[in-house]
Amino acid sequence: MMFPWHKKAIEKLDKMIEQKLLPHALLISGVEKIGKFDFTQNLIQKLLCSDSSCDHCEICNALKNDDLLSDLDQSVSIRRSHYPNLIYCRAELNDSGSMSKDIRVDQIRAFCESLGKTADTLQIGVIFYADQMNNNAANSLLKTLEEPRENTLIILLAHHIDRLPTTILSRCQKIHINPTYDDESAQWLESQIDEGTRGDLDSMQLLESAHGVPHKALEDLNGDYFLQYQSWQNLLLEIALSPTKISETEIFTDHELDVLKCLQHLINEGIKIKTLKHDSANLDLNKVIEKASFNHLFNLLDDTNRAISLSQTTVNIKLLLDNVMVVWSHITNLKKYPAITSFQEH
Ligand SMILES: [Zn+2]
Repeated sequence: MMFPWHKKAIEKLDKMIEQKLLPHALLISGVEKIGKFDFTQNLIQKLLCSDSSCDHCEICNALKNDDLLSDLDQSVSIRRSHYPNLIYCRAELNDSGSMSKDIRVDQIRAFCESLGKTADTLQIGVIFYADQMNNNAANSLLKTLEEPRENTLIILLAHHIDRLPTTILSRCQKIHINPTYDDESAQWLESQIDEGTRGDLDSMQLLESAHGVPHKALEDLNGDYFLQYQSWQNLLLEIALSPTKISETEIFTDHELDVLKCLQHLINEGIKIKTLKHDSANLDLNKVIEKASFNHLFNLLDDTNRAISLSQTTVNIKLLLDNVMVVWSHITNLKKYPAITSFQEH
């Protein structure tokens, strides 16, 4: 499937292919849900099928049989496609079923070894997401990038290229997929919404609220994210008003980062209404903010922001949230602001 907001990136790639300037390593970047994976699959099909992505030759069928959503969610570090010269490397699922945060060096080694030293036909290795490689993994990949193999293309997908070492960046050709606010994408979005829901919906507005990421817009619309968000917010306020509610936080599980962001929003909102001496429409928030001191709110906002940025590291996010929750549960009657110990080491 070709998405209208991929057009520019595709043109750039097509030019490389046409002029036979396809590099040994390609970095495809863009924010989450912008469609990097679909983009990559289209590219792979274009490169491997001899009949312009015919959709029915042996290779196209092999690619079609790569059920990336289910197969690749298996706990495997390296996986071969149904087309033998195509391999994927991604973070593993851990025992609790969530995705591990980093790609380890042994995975990258296995990945590089799985790519043959020589290949008669084009071999392709895909790493997603390359910005999840830890330092050792990145160094290990660098060695392979420094000695390009013939007939080999390595494709790195990344959400945040600033998390990749410059040594890797400098060895890749870069293709970036931008967020989109054009009419064609808004029309695509509209076409994906069923008529019942469509109503008076302004698809451009929806696209803007999702920061120009059409699939994110659809997800916001269809999913129960807003309901979930509401229930986190309610529980957070209940916890601040009666600390024993802290035992009911199982609804936060696997949503720790979103819950931290929800708390961040609550505290920001609280500081605003306290500063302006306004009341919020949210009565529970008024009650909490009335009793909490400015100092403690600012301190907790700092700590929440810190927890959010630490969540990008290997720190246990559940522990971060638990620590923040303990302080939050006492925010209305804190004497002295406590130092959160799990932050100190960082
Ligand atoms: Zn084909």
